[in-house]
Formats: sequence, structure tokens, C-alpha cells
Amino acid sequence: MDNEEFRKQAHKLVDWMADYLENLEDYPVRSQAKPGEILAQLPDGPPQSGEDMNRIFRDFQDIILPGMTHWQHPGFMAYFPANASPPSVLAEMLTSALAAQCMSWQTSPAATELEERMMDWLRQLTGLPEEFVGCIQDTASTATLAAVLSARERRHQFSTNHSGLSITGTHTTYASAEVHSSADKAVRIAGLGSDNLRKISVDENFAMCPGDLENAIVSDLNAGCTPTCVIATLGSTSLSAVDPLRRIGEICRKYDIWLHVDAAWAGSALVLPEFRWMIDGIELVDSLVFNPHKWLLTQFDCSAFFVRDKEALIRTFEILPEYLKTKEGDRVNNYRDWGVQLGRRFRALKLWFVIRSYGQAGLQAHLRKHIGFCQDLAEKVDRHPDFELLAPHPLALFCFRYRPAGTDEKALDSLNETLLEKINDSGRLYLTQTRIGGRYALRFVSGSPYTEQHHIDEAWSLIQNTAVKLIKR
Ligand SMILES: *Cc1c(COP(=O)(O)O)cnc(C)c1O
Repeated sequence: MDNEEFRKQAHKLVDWMADYLENLEDYPVRSQAKPGEILAQLPDGPPQSGEDMNRIFRDFQDIILPGMTHWQHPGFMAYFPANASPPSVLAEMLTSALAAQCMSWQTSPAATELEERMMDWLRQLTGLPEEFVGCIQDTASTATLAAVLSARERRHQFSTNHSGLSITGTHTTYASAEVHSSADKAVRIAGLGSDNLRKISVDENFAMCPGDLENAIVSDLNAGCTPTCVIATLGSTSLSAVDPLRRIGEICRKYDIWLHVDAAWAGSALVLPEFRWMIDGIELVDSLVFNPHKWLLTQFDCSAFFVRDKEALIRTFEILPEYLKTKEGDRVNNYRDWGVQLGRRFRALKLWFVIRSYGQAGLQAHLRKHIGFCQDLAEKVDRHPDFELLAPHPLALFCFRYRPAGTDEKALDSLNETLLEKINDSGRLYLTQTRIGGRYALRFVSGSPYTEQHHIDEAWSLIQNTAVKLIKR
């Protein structure tokens, strides 16, 4: 493609993008495609000769779009959101055109230094301690893996990277029963074993019980195990439970255990001073991750990973073969040594665009808006005689179920499963589910930059109307 054609196509696509965002609501929020339906429309093999861009773009519209779930749709209340505000889209367009591989300082000094500055802006915005430094990881899963690996290495004076784990005995890791599956994945990959991940019981608010944590550590020590890492959660995926950091941190200090905090979604709320209670005890924390790509208007992928002791991180990951040496050495940050990946995308640019474009006040308004939507709607759900809330809801997520008078408890799970299916088949609203104390629950999360009050009202009407039809005889 020559540059003339590139310019023409790019203008056309930008117009399409603006139309898309304007008309998001014309699309069904969750793709209505059936398994295999998209695959069947794609040729079995690659084309022999190059095809015309107009034709490729037409197929994008005809084949691909119907198979997309529209994450920016105002009716997207499923999982956690993956925000992509217009400024972050613009930045990603530039990132894509620059197409730099930002593994070390020298391979793009601006990418490294902007990342350093953006991580510090995020640190200030979220009220994290000055000692924290960090880098952008692709996902919270990767950041948690980096934390677990660093914990393991620090425990053994950074020797197990070389010696392997065979002589080190059993390492135990701790997290609440509500922890995200990425913790299980991290301890598996780190060679610590998910059988050695202790799932600590939770209290009536689904937060980790510190007393039980300490009992588990002591009993592991008595059994000759090596307690290595505790993963605390701020805002659990299932229902937004918040673990008590200070009490967990005190226990970690007492037994010299790395404390990692998974705040993947809820961490964005720290931009609001009224939610800083969640990080009471942060001075006892070794590392923390949160995803601006979930709720801070910065599109996927962008996970902010903070550590107190960057040396522990770098000593865990640094490998310096001749072909990667640069003359700047360690006078600069080489983020390839701060995690698993060597090659790195230029992710800081979108943060810069987003933070400057919204400012602290704009980011706060975005967060408060969604927390307000959820708190108001949760109250309505709670007041409705045929619905009930199933867990505390401090942020912009609440869990509920339909429970019409006279319905047998045993029938409620399947009734609510059907309700979820019907809601999602409508194409107007997309919710997901969880289980709370064995009961099937629907999750409602607000976070799309395009969601307004009337979308919340429509969602609630849709939920009620769909529910009522289920029991009409
Ligand atoms: C979403 C989520 C994760 C995983 O996030 P990725 O960035 O997709 O790896 C981890 N922990 C919690 C609490 C989450 O909500």
C-alpha cells in the first residue's frame, strides 16, 4: 500500500470509528453469533494475491463486526469494563503508527521516560507512597506473576533462578477464598504449586480473616514450609470484597512475607480520596497492581504495577546477554528487566493523553458517576420486594438475584440463570454471573464512558420486565 492510499483509507476508517462510537447503541451489546459462525465465513486458506482494502474493510463490517461484543456499549455491565476513552484511542493510533518496540531505554528514550513519569503521576493520583516505583505491564495476571516470582527470589537471596526449586522445600502462598484465578496461575507458573496456595476464609463482608491467615502461616512454619507471599485483594472480581490491608500487612512484616495487592479493578477508585481507606496500611505492602485499562479510561492493555523495592524486581528478571547491552547501562531504566517480556509496547502514551485530557477532576467525575449509578440502582433493587442483594457493594458493582415471593429456594438458581440468558439475548444489556455462598447471583457493573443515567434506568426496567415474564403463567 502506498502512502497516498494509506492516507485515503485512514481518513475513511477514522470517520467510521467516529460513527461507530456515536451509534454504539445500534449494536447488540453481546455478540449474538453462534459458535463457528464467524469461522465458517473465513476462507480456508490465505489469498494467493493481495486484495483491495475496500474489500477487506467491507468484510470487516460484514463478517467481523457481528461477531464482536461491544465493550464500550453503554449497556455493557458485565465482567469488569475495559474502558477506551476517545483520547486513549487517539494515542493508540499514534502508537500503532510509530510501531516502536520499547524494550530498553535506547530503543525509544521517550517511551521509557514517559512511562517513568506516568507511573509517578498514577502513584500521586492514587495516593500511593513516594517510595513506590513501577512500570506498565500488559495485564494484572502478568504483574501478579512478577510479584510472586520476586517474592520467591527474595526469599532465597535470588538464587533459585539459578539453582531451581528442587532443594528449597515447599513454598506456601496465601490469599482469600475470593482471590482471582490469576493468583492460582501465578503460583503454578512460578513453580510453587497451586496446592500450596492457601485460600484463607472470609468474614461476613467476604474479606480475608487475618486471624485465620496467621494461623495458617504458623501451621505451615511448624510443618517445615516456607511462607513466601500473601496476595491481598482490593475489590474482588466476584463481588468487590476488600481485604483489610493493615492487619494483613502486620502479619506479613512479622513473618517476613512479601505482600502483593491485587487491586485490578478497584485500584482506579483510589483516585477518589474518599476511597483511600482501602489502602490504610499501604506502608506494609511490597507491590500493588491495578488496571487503568479496566476503569480509568485507558484502553487495553495497561496494568500499573508498583513495587517498593525495584532491586528485588530487577534482580529477579535481569539477564544481560551481549546483544542487549547498551552504553547507558543502569543510569536509565530498562523496563525489559522489570518483568517477563523482553519486547514491550509503547503503552505510556495513552496514559499521558488520558490523564492530560481529563485531568484529575475529570477522572474523579468519571469514577464518582459510576459509583453513584451503582449505589442508586442497588438501593432500588434492595427496596424491590422480588429482588435481593447478595453482598456488600462499596464501589460500582453489586450482586443480586430475582426472588419472587413464594419461589422455592431450590428453584432460584435456574430461574436466575434463565433471567441472565434472556437479558443477554436482548442485545440491550450485558450482565455476567457469579456464585455467592453457593447461590447463583447476577453481577451489575457500571463503567463505560458512554453510560448515562437513562441507560441505568433502562437496564433496571429491562431486568424487571424480563424477570416478571419468567413467572407469568
Ligand atoms: C480482572 C482482574 C484480574 C485479571 O486482570 P488481567 O489484567 O486481565 O490479568 C485480576 N485480579 C482481579 C481482582 C481482577 O478483577
